[in-house]
Amino acid sequence: MSGPCDLVRDDLRSFAGYRSARCEPAPGDVWLDANESPWPSAADPDGAARRYPEPQPRALGEALSALYGCGPQRLLIGRGSDEAIDLLVRATCAFGRDAVAISPPVFGMYAVCARLQGARLVEVPQRDAGGGWRVDLGALGDAALDARAKVVFLCSPGNPTGEAIAPEAIAALAGRLRGTALLVVDEAYGEFSTVPSAVALLDDHSNVAVLRTLSKAHAIPAARVGCLVADAGLVALLRRCQAPYPVPGPSASVALAALAPDALARTGERVGAVRRERARLFAALCATDCVRRVYPSQGNFLLARFDDATRALERLRTAGVVVRDMRATPRLEDALRISVGTPAENDRLLAALGGREVPS
Ligand SMILES: *Cc1c(COP(=O)(O)O)cnc(C)c1O
Repeated sequence: MSGPCDLVRDDLRSFAGYRSARCEPAPGDVWLDANESPWPSAADPDGAARRYPEPQPRALGEALSALYGCGPQRLLIGRGSDEAIDLLVRATCAFGRDAVAISPPVFGMYAVCARLQGARLVEVPQRDAGGGWRVDLGALGDAALDARAKVVFLCSPGNPTGEAIAPEAIAALAGRLRGTALLVVDEAYGEFSTVPSAVALLDDHSNVAVLRTLSKAHAIPAARVGCLVADAGLVALLRRCQAPYPVPGPSASVALAALAPDALARTGERVGAVRRERARLFAALCATDCVRRVYPSQGNFLLARFDDATRALERLRTAGVVVRDMRATPRLEDALRISVGTPAENDRLLAALGGREVPS
């Protein structure tokens, strides 16, 4: 039977990986199998950090599965979704032979991981159409099939473009790529978007893989918790390629607390506030003299083009406001990416740019 595991490197398909002491639940109550200290550290008087953590913390896995609407066997928890990007490329691409396909401008880690793994990068530029950026999914599919790319990355909503891709269009591309490539949909900003998640496509398209993270809407990037939702066989294989104990105990605790019902309700409120501020900032930037163009965004940021981006950056810097400089990115030489802040922070940004308030 063919499935996404067939896309894994031949030399890794039966790879067992490192068996850590906590791969299986320990049956006894005297644990002398992992060379841990019998006494806790002075910095950790209750001993919460004395033992190696579960490789895939069960309670956290259940909470994340419930959040993303997938079975726990389809979930891989890692050190941010960045770890999953790296694992996917390393596990599928043979060094110096296979290819990864992307549609720039897009999040830089896909190209970085491809480079580190010696994978060729196939690029099909997005079109900067009237209403915003568009990934040409037909051309991306053609190029990926031509190059026999093993992994195709989509970012939806796109960083830095803000554009989200409809699940139906993703499903059509996944159908074309079946048997030849994994279609990875990075939903780091999914919570800010009105477009539904691609997780639901997995039942019909086992070559779809979705990246989610607690770093953006859930507001705990320092914990470094992200995950991959994918075919259960592929997840089992990737777990064996992952570092031992990849989810630090303190990170798992913060993540679990962030997924408690009251914390999730607060997250929903913050997401609502970001969307409202995004709309206000969009309107205000459109009415700002030095701004040439603002792209509509489904993320928690706005991409804007300036008459003189260098001058805008200087004004912002003088005012103590830091934004993402996009000038080194092809076709974004006049652009800055602005994260949506608190109302007061956004006011500081607008004042520095000399923007006017738009009466609502
Ligand atoms: C921020 C970001 C990530 C990284 O998420 P981590 O879970 O913090 O590693 C992944 N993808 C995109 C598109 C991002 O913008």
